[in-house]
Amino acid sequence: MNVMFLGVPSSGKGTQAEFVRKKYKLAHLSIGELLRKKIDDPNDPEGQSIREKINKGILVDNDLIMRIIETFISNLSSDEGILFDGFPRSVEQAILLDKLFEKLNKKLDCVINMELDDRVVMERINGRRLCPNCGKSYHIKFNPSKIKDTCDDCGSKLVIREDDNEESVKGRLKTYYSQTHPLINYYKEQGKLIGIDATQDIESIAKNIDDILGGIQ
Ligand code: AMP
Repeated sequence: MNVMFLGVPSSGKGTQAEFVRKKYKLAHLSIGELLRKKIDDPNDPEGQSIREKINKGILVDNDLIMRIIETFISNLSSDEGILFDGFPRSVEQAILLDKLFEKLNKKLDCVINMELDDRVVMERINGRRLCPNCGKSYHIKFNPSKIKDTCDDCGSKLVIREDDNEESVKGRLKTYYSQTHPLINYYKEQGKLIGIDATQDIESIAKNIDDILGGIQ
């Protein structure tokens, strides 16, 4: 099964991905996380330019993104399903993915759109914490770690994402509406889009997603 999460920043894609990946044994492809790993690698020649783009909230070039996707898929076994989180982020990328899937004889089963009003985005972003080691996300109010500022899974010290500030979020929302939002129609036309109310609590959203994916399996 190949599944995709769409939604504005902070709609809960990463949080729900953790549950879905475990339950449905999918490979979790978080492009944002893979890009942040490149930024953290002092020997990566692309790190600095990726960092500048991420901090402005603009998209990283398609050729780099497709290289990351192809490498990720080539390391999977042929029957392993993928959970796409943060890709595609434009119709152009969706077309590239369709072509890649056609070449690999794979299909996208469903696209879950996490519907969230912009007005709550900033509240959710303030308070968000990230484990820089395993990528697990937290929120000090809605999804706190058991021990303050410490990852439940790997014990690393939690950090605030460098692009979780007002200026970057403005850029991310602008990019979302100009480039990512058109994907809703793109996947609606393919009959693959299912919307869920992402203002609910984490468990209720997980239950909605579970009902959807359980019906596909
Ligand atoms: P995320 O962790 O998914 O919120 O992504 C953080 C940032 O990484 C985005 O604001 C973009 O700058 C960049 N990024 C993530 N996914 C993509 C993508 N599919 N194409 C281009 N840039 C991306």
